[in-house]
Amino acid sequence: MRYISTRGRAPDLSFEEAMLRGLAPDGGLYVPDTVPQMSADEIAALAGLSYEEAAFRVMRPFVGDAFDDATLRQLIETAYASFGHDARAPLVQLGPNHFLLELFHGPTLAFKDFAMQLIGQMFQASLARSGDRITIVGATSGDTGSAAIEAFRGLSNVDVFILYPHGRVSEVQRRQMTTPVEDNVHALALDGDFDDCQAALKDMFNDHAFRDEVGLTAVNSINWARVLAQVVYFFTSAVSLGAPHREVSFTVPTGNFGDIFAGYIAKRMGLPIADLVIATNQNDILHRTLVTGEQVKTSVTPSISPSMDIQVSSNFERVLFDAYGRDGALTASQMADLKDKGGFSVGQGALEFLREHFRSGRASEEETSATITGALASTGELLCPHSAVGVHVAEAHLGAVPMITLATAHPAKFPDAVEAASGIRPPLPSAMSDLYERPERVTQVPNALADLQKLVRDRRSH
Ligand SMILES: *Cc1c(COP(=O)(O)O)cnc(C)c1O
Repeated sequence: MRYISTRGRAPDLSFEEAMLRGLAPDGGLYVPDTVPQMSADEIAALAGLSYEEAAFRVMRPFVGDAFDDATLRQLIETAYASFGHDARAPLVQLGPNHFLLELFHGPTLAFKDFAMQLIGQMFQASLARSGDRITIVGATSGDTGSAAIEAFRGLSNVDVFILYPHGRVSEVQRRQMTTPVEDNVHALALDGDFDDCQAALKDMFNDHAFRDEVGLTAVNSINWARVLAQVVYFFTSAVSLGAPHREVSFTVPTGNFGDIFAGYIAKRMGLPIADLVIATNQNDILHRTLVTGEQVKTSVTPSISPSMDIQVSSNFERVLFDAYGRDGALTASQMADLKDKGGFSVGQGALEFLREHFRSGRASEEETSATITGALASTGELLCPHSAVGVHVAEAHLGAVPMITLATAHPAKFPDAVEAASGIRPPLPSAMSDLYERPERVTQVPNALADLQKLVRDRRSH
């Protein structure tokens, strides 16, 4: 299996190379050159397996010779051992034909742990083989940073620096980043907002001498290995509701389009998915794209579901590439228009492709809060605001086919919004109940490239 760039102007790579590289040198994203198929019998055979064994069978064909079978199994076992639920991704019922897939039992209480814990193990195995050292630098609005720190803490051969906007992440998110004690973890509170953090990160990557000197690596959601890890729970949840003999639909709270793109890959592999529903908050660029055929950037309006407060949805490029019949040049020119002109129109054929594969909806702030209130009253389930956006949108798409809505974070990660809507302040799971007592370690940094680069050089272990 080879991986190609969505912009068509970069050499194709193996799985391991694509994982270590992240972004393609032509600015594109890596996608598999062909999508491996799972037969109905192979899908049916996933029933009753452990999450780990199902993960092995779903991911195996994508990984190629990067890891042998025994190694891949071991990496998967280790990745999910720290989860607080034996099922890893348990399914609960919300109402007639509506189910909630709880993806928040990982160590940082958001679905990002599924991918981050696994790529932490994969990076470690790969670097141990090559003897290389890398420096991971990430920008976060909260969840990605905490998941990355948790996945890479204490690993030899890796330093992890996470930039977050000073004063603009939730207290739980901040403490998850500032309380790990390992020397290779560096939480940096940048004097600026999330866009400043991302811009600082981009500048570091664009300084090629610096990038090569420190072995700079990105683990943001455009990394193909992260998407792959997320394909698994679409299979396990669908099979537990009767796939492949019965179709299912999914609603996915969406920001960067990573999680829902994983669902699209599952469908392409042969999982019988009827609808894939994009759920956005008031930052609804993806919903508007499907409705109008125009992708137009506006400014980000902060919401109570901050991990979906996004205008540029990076992984959308991957599905656009397919919608344009894998025309890299056309994909590249549309992405250039988005960056330089603030938007582009999706061609008619491509729009039909998108509408054939995806449906969409949005939830306002009031609808999100009302959904938290309503779900608590009718089911006893306390939703985080992101999951509530999903449940609200899913309710408009319920029908004869079972609907699975992805619950992307634990309510305790966003206690203020949840308490405001429900009157209940959700407690942290017992494994991290002392989070508020642990000492914090953080460096406040100015929004200045030279200072940041000096800090990375000085702090990383050699
Ligand atoms: C990252 C995140 C999302 C959005 O996921 P994408 O893959 O970027 O679409 C939704 N909810 C939560 C809690 C998240 O952390």
